[in-house]
Amino acid sequence: MLTLTSPVTDINGIGKTRAEALARVGIRTASDLLWFFPRAYQDRGDVREIAMEQCDGYAHSFVLTVATQPRNARLKNRMTLTKFRAADEKSSTEVVFFNQPYLATFFKVGEEYRFYGKLQRAKSNYVLSSPAYEPLGGEVPPPDLVPVYRMTEGLTRKALEKAVHTAIDALLPSLADPLPAEIRERRKLCTLAYAINHIHRPKDKDALRRAARRLVFDEVFFRLLAVAVCSGSRPRDGGIRFSDFDTERFLSCQPFKLTGAQERVIDAICRDLGKNGTVPPMNRIVVGDVGSGKTVCAQAAMYLAAKNGYRSMLMAPTEILARQHFADTEPMMKKLGYRTALLCGSMKPREKAQVLRGLISDDPAEKIDMVIGTHALISDGVKCERLGLIVTDEQHRFGVSQRAALSDRGDESPHILVMSATPIPRTLSLALYGDLDVSRIDEMPPGRQKVDTFAVNESYRDRLNAFIRKNVEEGGQVYIVCPSVEEREEELEDEGGKELEGILFAEESQPPLKAAVQYAEELKNGVFSDIPLAFLHGRMKSAEKDAVMLAFARGEIKILVSTTVIEVGVNVPNASLMIVENAERFGLSQLHQLRGRVGRGARKSYCVLVSDSESENAKKRLAIMKKTCDGYEIAETDLEMRGPGDFFAGVGQKLRQHGDTGLRLAASWQDTETFTEADEEARLMKSVDPALEKEEHSLLRKAVLSSVDTDYAKLN
Ligand code: ADP
Ligand code: MG
Repeated sequence: MLTLTSPVTDINGIGKTRAEALARVGIRTASDLLWFFPRAYQDRGDVREIAMEQCDGYAHSFVLTVATQPRNARLKNRMTLTKFRAADEKSSTEVVFFNQPYLATFFKVGEEYRFYGKLQRAKSNYVLSSPAYEPLGGEVPPPDLVPVYRMTEGLTRKALEKAVHTAIDALLPSLADPLPAEIRERRKLCTLAYAINHIHRPKDKDALRRAARRLVFDEVFFRLLAVAVCSGSRPRDGGIRFSDFDTERFLSCQPFKLTGAQERVIDAICRDLGKNGTVPPMNRIVVGDVGSGKTVCAQAAMYLAAKNGYRSMLMAPTEILARQHFADTEPMMKKLGYRTALLCGSMKPREKAQVLRGLISDDPAEKIDMVIGTHALISDGVKCERLGLIVTDEQHRFGVSQRAALSDRGDESPHILVMSATPIPRTLSLALYGDLDVSRIDEMPPGRQKVDTFAVNESYRDRLNAFIRKNVEEGGQVYIVCPSVEEREEELEDEGGKELEGILFAEESQPPLKAAVQYAEELKNGVFSDIPLAFLHGRMKSAEKDAVMLAFARGEIKILVSTTVIEVGVNVPNASLMIVENAERFGLSQLHQLRGRVGRGARKSYCVLVSDSESENAKKRLAIMKKTCDGYEIAETDLEMRGPGDFFAGVGQKLRQHGDTGLRLAASWQDTETFTEADEEARLMKSVDPALEKEEHSLLRKAVLSSVDTDYAKLN
């Protein structure tokens, strides 16, 4: 009998190969299948007429009657082409399939089918290439909403769907609901079983909304409870109270005057640290656009900790970022009389041992006042005496569980300060940061230059290459960003036959993707063979990535071709040109983050968004990037432009963007009321049973714990 924890191989039709493919997308057990939510839905119920079609490059449904006998033809590259005409009431189109000769006998003249695909115009004719198809006229009409799953090599949509449905049918009848019935009733939420069923096979849009709302509620509610549950029932009140809040000497060491926003943040931090009396430990996030100057706020807090006799830790998501912070912080603190150390995984054991000693020693010869490092800081064996403050940079890459692990480092509950450069629309920030106090830096340091942004198409390629060369010759450095390799694979899987369109049409509906690896090779051996060029992508080992990044930071590499892995927060002031290929594939917020990699030094900086997309939506989005450099405006627009109906199409992108937060659905959920409700319920729950230790909450506790992102290792 199938249980939630059964391995997927217990399901009929899932053998070793398919299990391996499933494991690549994180599915190992039957329950993983239930929680593998579709990334989008095709609205096949929205049937279009051929004659009315704009041929806008988007897939639509057409109900068509087969008009001519399908024929197979052999193409010169040994492929078969199956071709026939099909018609609705007013007009007709050609329908073609590749390499599926058996379809010639499947489609029957005079019968009606529902096709789903991109209609294209070729001269005076219409063509529907490799559409999905469903016979009509059976007893049960095909469903209108068809889920789209993230695919991976070795897995077909049919096989995945079948496995999901098997798991649903076997497990849902006995699926326990971790959410107390009382909350469900109060908030009018459907049961978990209903939600899981209809997220995978929605009866209609209404059922899908109900299902999604419940799952969104769970995601946010669990997240809000997670820190309390993970850090156990340890009282979080009675934080360490500092008494000295004099930052004058620290400020006089800075080469600049603080902005008003920075002053406000440091002020809030001082209040958190006890300026106004006894307090619970600080639990604050500082959100500020790239380059808004968050670091100095963190350094001020670390300075105060040291001044009050406490140690502090600063944790960065990558070694290169940690080293950068260290290079920044160490000399300044030295001047102020405090010793800073670096602790990274790649250091020699002897060096590490010395740092570890410094963290527990009171001997002035050894004592370390602050330590900067990677997640090596939360590894076992790191013990820190009198730990008063923990700062994490770029928090979206640290999950709740890391935060909880951090607060377990010392004997007393240390203060926690988190810094994030991801501009999250206010409405989403509750879901993401609900358990933290939020400070926003909404003002840029003076004199910051604007990055001039252009949107161009492929016809500019020669000019663009000349521009890159000129930039390098003048001493600058260049980033060229391509969509990730994974994205490309998914694309091909999703729209089988798409790559073959070139045979039939002069123009392709969607511009082809620049595959980063290939493109880098091309440039290296071609136009830029005389310029030091390197390549960076997500599948490289952490150490390899760091080595390339470091060489770029040192100026040894002039052009860096990369997927979006270029590390958030890395500072290479000499880089003054950013090219984004297939810019239409990126979310606005992501483009904004990428653009933040340039314009960090004295050089006049540029960002060029390259896209051949004809889609109005894509053009509009790129126009916004040209118009504004304000991360919040961009984030809000991103959310707005996807509109409520866009929920059906947008999950995929957001999933990727927010995949590391454990908020799979919530990140694309428009109805912010749900977040508020989850927040209210979480507060209520925390007031009665913060660590969920009561018997009636044992299921909930389990659900919260298993929802906590333990994925940190995967990200690096
Ligand atoms: P981020 O918020 O992205 O972490 P940083 O803290 O790295 O930004 O600051 C970006 C740059 O701006 C740094 O070079 C820093 O020295 C500089 N900076 C920070 N605050 C100010 C300020 N008030 N005036 C001028 N320059 C500043
Ligand atoms: Mg930073």
